[in-house]
Amino acid sequence: MMQTRAAVLYEAGKPVVIEEITLDAPRQGEILVRMEAAGVCHSDLHVRDGSLPEPMPIVLGHEGTGVIAEVGPGVTGFEVGDRVVLTWVPSCGQCYFCQRGQTHLCTTAGAMGVQGTLRDGTSRMHLGDKNLHHFLAVSCFSEYVVVPQEGAAKIPADVPMEVAAVLGCAVLTGVGAVERTAGVRPGESVAVIGCGGVGLNVIQAASLSGAYPIIAVDINPEKLKMAQSFGASHTINSREQEALREVRRITQLGVDWAFEVLGNPRTIEQAWSLIRAGGTAVVVGLAPRTSTITLPAFEFIIEKSIRGCFYGSSRFHADVPALLKRIQAGRMRIEGMVSHTAPLDELETAFERMRRGDGARTIIRFPSA
Ligand SMILES: [Zn+2]
Ligand SMILES: [Zn+2]
Repeated sequence: MMQTRAAVLYEAGKPVVIEEITLDAPRQGEILVRMEAAGVCHSDLHVRDGSLPEPMPIVLGHEGTGVIAEVGPGVTGFEVGDRVVLTWVPSCGQCYFCQRGQTHLCTTAGAMGVQGTLRDGTSRMHLGDKNLHHFLAVSCFSEYVVVPQEGAAKIPADVPMEVAAVLGCAVLTGVGAVERTAGVRPGESVAVIGCGGVGLNVIQAASLSGAYPIIAVDINPEKLKMAQSFGASHTINSREQEALREVRRITQLGVDWAFEVLGNPRTIEQAWSLIRAGGTAVVVGLAPRTSTITLPAFEFIIEKSIRGCFYGSSRFHADVPALLKRIQAGRMRIEGMVSHTAPLDELETAFERMRRGDGARTIIRFPSA
């Protein structure tokens, strides 16, 4: 048992409070990780602001890197001192989906997320006599975390912690959406609505897949500039330009693939409008739980499709080592996706920046031990 500093959200719509919390020692199959870097993602903001209901109180944070400080009983393949990246889908390897190779849909990991606990149904985090909930079995807005061993993968010594920090959500989701969910082919046309952390990864992966044109859509000129640097061939500022008219001007028929990376019902409908006959809208963004969309049903006759995308249909333990090799070989760029770094105490400022759509991603840096 130890004390650690963590950002506790007591109630949606209220600011997080930095507290000294009590953290239990890792149990069977769990590891204790001293965090070094954690990305601030829209899903954290959704919980903070109330559009994604979670059990409270909770410690948010679901992408990050750190160093293993202690291994629990039954842990194999990890040692104290290992540098690791965390995942919010610690797949079990046993359930229906894991056995079919769809580890991102693991029901065991899903249950941990719903209950806000670790696998045995209990929490390792406490404040006084109160239990705190885990967020997606990660909760890395905390100096130390206890996670299941399936929720971590090793990273080599020459990959900086803040580079690897975005792997666990933004990179896996964005790259996976293109390479695993969609399977974009060379020469196909792509539109990406929303050019934040995930959107930039969609753009980079589309570019590496040989897609052309790659049309970035956003309302922030700064993000559109970043989109260009990651491979967008065209940009549309949808505050000033009519996206549908511009996409038609560039592609005549519409795009083969439209990736929606905001989780906004209106832009999901917009993604549908941007695809050609036979094209597919891929919904990567997390929409508010009760929201609905309206599509012109007649257009199914021209073989337009829409499909969901969860965590880029990724397989964490296979994809992370492959992505790390591509990054190390200079075939994939992460630098430039992180727009801000901040200490844990400035988490609320990072949320505020995100609400304004300012910058691609903030990385929380923890003091090194
Ligand atoms: Zn995320
Ligand atoms: Zn499973």
